[in-house]
Amino acid sequence: MQMIPHDYPFKATISKRNHGRIHSTTGIALNEPLHICSESPEDRRVYIQDKPRSAYAQLPVIYFVTPTYPRREQIPELKRLAYTLLHVPRLYWLVANDQERCDTFLDTLLSGFGIPYAHMASPMPSEFRKSKPAPRGVANRRAALQWLHQQNITNGVLYFGDDDNTYDLRLFSEIRQTQRVSMFPVGLIAEYAVSVPVVRDGKVVAFLDSWVAGRRWPVDMAGFAVSLAYMSQYPNVNMPYKPGYEEDLFLRSIGLRIDQIEPKGANCTEILVWHTQTKNKKSAVVRLNSEFLDGRSNLGALFRSLKLMGVASASDTEGPVAMISKNGKTKSHSYILS
Ligand code: UDP
Ligand code: MN
Repeated sequence: MQMIPHDYPFKATISKRNHGRIHSTTGIALNEPLHICSESPEDRRVYIQDKPRSAYAQLPVIYFVTPTYPRREQIPELKRLAYTLLHVPRLYWLVANDQERCDTFLDTLLSGFGIPYAHMASPMPSEFRKSKPAPRGVANRRAALQWLHQQNITNGVLYFGDDDNTYDLRLFSEIRQTQRVSMFPVGLIAEYAVSVPVVRDGKVVAFLDSWVAGRRWPVDMAGFAVSLAYMSQYPNVNMPYKPGYEEDLFLRSIGLRIDQIEPKGANCTEILVWHTQTKNKKSAVVRLNSEFLDGRSNLGALFRSLKLMGVASASDTEGPVAMISKNGKTKSHSYILS
């Protein structure tokens, strides 16, 4: 595993010159600096599903790109996703975190799964942070595209898999043989609870999606996969910072034609991916005196770990006083912990 110092201060240096061109499909080069926090190309899994890893050696690799960002749900989301991905052979997990600095907790978490991965820090440029809607996950996906480009990867399959979606394992076998671009339904999208290509005689002829907005490709990020052999023929591949239009402009940047689309999931009749969303809440603050957060009980170690995960923190002065009870009665902290 290659490690880069974590206190390396990341400077987002997207130049002003690029911003005037966000409406162009090809205008902004993927020229941000790429910050790898840790990576391991090694697959340390012994068995995957019911077979030894070697049984899968001939399969094309799926590059599964996951944008993620610090919030209290981040670690549980990534764990849930990892426990799905552990069942998927020949998968390379590109995890791009929307944060300036590398998160060592994430390094440890990701390397522990034994799935080949690269963890990068890819903060949203500060000028977009306050925009509503913000381009969520775009800096992250751009970083992953940059990684693929720098590694000169020209075979395998690219898939954009957000950290909060729900993936059927059959999705991976469906997209693995993508020749150019494959598409399939995504469940739980917007008003219709589905976004799906319309298929006739095995060909995509149109799209059913409640938000058209002039998009030639009105699909969700999770609703398509791209062959890297195909994508590598398009040097202007891009995903501009244009909320709502990321999929459309990305697919336009790789010169897609409707007759080339490969419908998957039994001609787009099956839902193999769901746009599930997790309720977001602010990280919790619990009033719990630091003098009690030592080795005398479990609480010190527990709250240190919750803090690292961005879930909760203990404070001497803020937040509701932690209720500690015994036999149904609240006890003073000192009674239990001193
Ligand atoms: N995301 C991010 N930075 C943000 C917000 C979201 O990197 O400020 C990531 C998030 O982890 C997810 C993807 O971008 O993988 C899409 O965001 P989200 O799931 O919140 O959007 P949705 O499409 O579900 O509305
Ligand atoms: Mn989501």
